[in-house]
This record gives sequence, structure tokens and C-alpha cells, in this order.
Amino acid sequence: MKVYFRQCESYDRVEKVLLPLLAKYSHIFEKGDRVLVKPNLLSAREPNEGVTTHPEVLKTILKFLISLETRPFVGDSPASGSFKKVIAHTGISQICEKLSVPIVELDDPVEVDGEIYKKIKISSKVFQADKVVNVAKLKTHSQMIFTMGVKNTFGCVPGFEKSGWHIRCAHNENFASLLVDIHLLVKPVLTILDGIIGMEGNGPANGKLKQFNMLVVGENAFAVDHAVCKRIGVNPEIVFVLKEAIKRNLIPDYEIDGNWSDTIKLPVTAETLPVPGMLKNLARKIIRVPKISKKRCVQCRICEERCPAKAIDISNYFISYNKCIRCYVCHEVCPRGAIDLIRKFL
Ligand code: SF4
Ligand code: SF4
Repeated sequence: MKVYFRQCESYDRVEKVLLPLLAKYSHIFEKGDRVLVKPNLLSAREPNEGVTTHPEVLKTILKFLISLETRPFVGDSPASGSFKKVIAHTGISQICEKLSVPIVELDDPVEVDGEIYKKIKISSKVFQADKVVNVAKLKTHSQMIFTMGVKNTFGCVPGFEKSGWHIRCAHNENFASLLVDIHLLVKPVLTILDGIIGMEGNGPANGKLKQFNMLVVGENAFAVDHAVCKRIGVNPEIVFVLKEAIKRNLIPDYEIDGNWSDTIKLPVTAETLPVPGMLKNLARKIIRVPKISKKRCVQCRICEERCPAKAIDISNYFISYNKCIRCYVCHEVCPRGAIDLIRKFL
């Protein structure tokens, strides 16, 4: 099994770089297949903000699938904002219109059992597809450290169903295990990672843009994510999803094709304080909690609505740290970057 890394410095060059790679996977698809193409449409952000899959990447994949005479459709369930607004802002609806490809919200949940978690509600539209193509973004993630191929399939869980899982799986290890279960149920046949412009620091929505100039393609998202960590100097064991995948023996043997290496600034939630041995236990009690900046907040209430623990009272810019489960959803959905992650002694 191979994971392909290809240099691509600009979104103008995607077609030239990506099409030859996709051609290696033509045998996976059959004429007439209904193919769900699942991008990362986290929220209503412009393509150059590095939060969502770039429309040029999606366009190339759709052109490839159309050339094989399959019947692609695009679908996702964003973390916040109306679906209509999200597909317009991210440039996805324009691409789909041009290519006459249907675009659907991943709603209408059906209950399915994962290996560990039972009764997971996943959009029925995922199971109506013959095949799923996973088109993720290379970004850091304040809760899960990274969001890449495996985590991208969490978008197949419809809208507010996601919040309940943050409560049921309040510990990062449990949430990672759920993400692995969901990925195994969605079973994408191909994962493409848009790492031309991604994000570092406190991603997935309010970190710093980082030009990785890279496209990554592979049949197995566990291998894709694992290979990226290796090339970017990050121990896969600190990435909760990969730690769980290693535990379940889900990382296949793979070979890397293509040269690339880079560095990345991880989220502050991944930091370990450089303290002498005796103080290490004390340092572990220092955690990161969200804090609302009165100066930047515009009282849109999105964080309050999306907080699964109902810990936010936005009228008073207040967060109850007794209720907070540190899922950092508030930080992720805030459109103004008005939530800081500050240190607190537990
Ligand atoms: S306040 Fe933020 S981090 Fe805490 S539970 Fe609510 S959404 Fe999660
Ligand atoms: S903190 Fe952000 S999401 Fe919450 S109300 Fe203020 S601007 Fe909106």
C-alpha cells in the first residue's frame, strides 16, 4: 500500500499535480457508481482562510470521477452555520453547479453499531452511496491535536447529533475511539488531504495559516494520517486518533512515495511544560480552558448554542469551568476568534 506525497505550491496547479495520482485509483470505481465525495466543510469560511477543503481540490476530484462515468455527489454536515451559507461561502456550491454535481446535507440519521460504540447516528446518505471519497484538510485541532483523514468522517454524523457525543465521550481517548468507529463505518475507499494551505497552532478554525504546499493521497486514511505525522516530525502516539488506531492494529504497512518534510506548531493544548522531574505531576494539573475575550466577542451566541455541556452564559461572557469538559467546540465554532485557551490550575 502506498501513500503519495506531491509538492503543489498553488491551487492553480492542483489539476496538473492531482489528476495523475488519482488515475492510479481508477480501478476502484465502476461505471455508474454513486460516489459520495466528503470534503471538510467545517463552517462558512472563505477558501483562502484555510479552514475548509479548497474548491479547486474538490473540482479536480469531481472531474476525475465524472471522467470515469461514475455519479458523484458532494455531502457534509458542517459543525456550525446553515448548510446553504456554508456551501456558498466555501466556494463548493459554485463548483458543483458548474459541473452539475448534486450537493447534499448529510442529515437523516440512521443508527448503526460501531466496534466499541453502539447506536451511532450517521446520515443515511452515506450508506446510499456505493463508495465514499474522503477529501480532508491538513490542520491542527485543539482537542484532537490534528484533523486529517480519519477525523474528517465525523462530518457524516448529522448536525447537533455531534454535540451529544462530546458529552458521552468527554475524555479525549474515548472521543478518539468514537472517531475511529465512525471512520470504520463510513469506510472511504480513497483519502485525499489538502495540505497546500493548512493550519497550525490552535486549529481547526482559529489557528495560523500554514503553507505546506502538499497534496497527500492514499487508500487508507490511517496510513495517510500516520505518514503525515512522520513527515512533519510529530510522534503519532500524541495524536489521539492514531494512538487508538495503533492500539486496534489499524495502521497497515505502507510505503511513502514522494519527498516531503516540514515542521508544524502544535496547539497549546498539546504542550508539556518544561519543568524538573519533581514538578512534573504538578505541571500535569495545569490545563487549558476557554476564556471569552469581551473585546473581540460580538455576542453572536454560536458558542453558547454549540457548547455540549451548557457551560457558557454569553450575556455575562461567563464559562463555568465546573461544567466545561474541555472539548474546545466553542473555540472551534467562534467566527471571531474571540475565545482564548488560557492556563488554569486544576
Ligand atoms: S465551554 Fe467550550 S470547551 Fe467547555 S464544554 Fe463548552 S464548548 Fe466545550
Ligand atoms: S465568543 Fe465568539 S461565538 Fe461566542 S458569542 Fe462571542 S463571537 Fe460569538
